[in-house]
Amino acid sequence: MADAFDGILGQPQVRSLLRSSLAGDRVSHAYLFHGPAGSSKTRAATALAQALVCPHGGCGTCEVCAKVARHRHPDVRFEAPEGAAGYVVAQVRAIVSDVSLAPIQAARKVYVLDRADLMNAAAANAFLKTLEEPPADVVLILLARTREGVLPTIASRCLAVPFRQIPPDEAADLVAQAADVTPSRARVGLAACGGSIERAVSFVKSNERMEFRREVLHALEGLEMADAWDVVGRARGLVVLAKAPLDEVRAAHEAHLRDHADFLGKAAVRQIELRNKRELSAKSLESLRQIASIAGSFLRDVLAVCAECPDLVQNADVRSQVERCALAVDEARVVRALDAVSACESAISYNVSPETCVSALLFELREALYGSHSPRSACL
Ligand SMILES: [Zn+2]
Repeated sequence: MADAFDGILGQPQVRSLLRSSLAGDRVSHAYLFHGPAGSSKTRAATALAQALVCPHGGCGTCEVCAKVARHRHPDVRFEAPEGAAGYVVAQVRAIVSDVSLAPIQAARKVYVLDRADLMNAAAANAFLKTLEEPPADVVLILLARTREGVLPTIASRCLAVPFRQIPPDEAADLVAQAADVTPSRARVGLAACGGSIERAVSFVKSNERMEFRREVLHALEGLEMADAWDVVGRARGLVVLAKAPLDEVRAAHEAHLRDHADFLGKAAVRQIELRNKRELSAKSLESLRQIASIAGSFLRDVLAVCAECPDLVQNADVRSQVERCALAVDEARVVRALDAVSACESAISYNVSPETCVSALLFELREALYGSHSPRSACL
């Protein structure tokens, strides 16, 4: 029978472990899901949360399951580090005090803490007692890239569930199957989403996101001929597009608040507003990261062509643009350009303004690839 765990793509062992612990009523009070980026950890945490609060045991289709998936269920909280370097103590204290409150709609409460490897000793200390003995109706799910990256005091108090690295071809097949697209389009989506299968599935299904990718690639084309005003204009255009889906999210938030305003107290409204704000900023970061991921995957393709390994090209639909760029540059320049992409990714995490991040990225790519006095003959 189909259930929420079906969506944990590429991790059959995790699926069967979670199903059997649910069936045998052996749910742990704390889990540590650890594995590389893109290994379906968030999907698995969502499925487990659905199974714990859904009246049908995690059907994946009812209104409760849908609310969990949309991060709208009051008893399922998704947390990500709020500080640039990781969790801040105040955030952990807020989680700890929330844990002690009774569930609102379900029989249990679930907390999903992304990037538990970014919890330093001070934040971990504030969390230890809760992690050791949460209330009986609370389940904590911590996610981390590696088990070793998590402080031993945290890791030792959780049931560790390893997620395997999914090979690229298998990941492309999974995305292709789930989104009903060709494997080559699936690879494009994976490249734009930093390898995350779940995000790649929604990326390739969205015409608006695929159009966004085309615009990012378009902004890279002819960059060597672009003057400073042109570069700034391209960056501004990309930021506008990156923020476009946020309008929809914002409108949904406002509608939700309007519908519930009558029976929500002031404190609850304030809490929802804060959560909405966090969600908006997470969405906007995701869009900006996609610009960096798309540029990065394009450059890796250029590098592959420069190194005479054209079979490695992921963005097969823009192969001719990749080849034109490879003709105009050399490997050392592409490597420098990839460094600029990494620098942009860090700047995004440090909350530098989107306009600044993206225009700095385009200027640095132009400089790295063509030098400041680029010959204006060949074109990208
Ligand atoms: Zn359900």
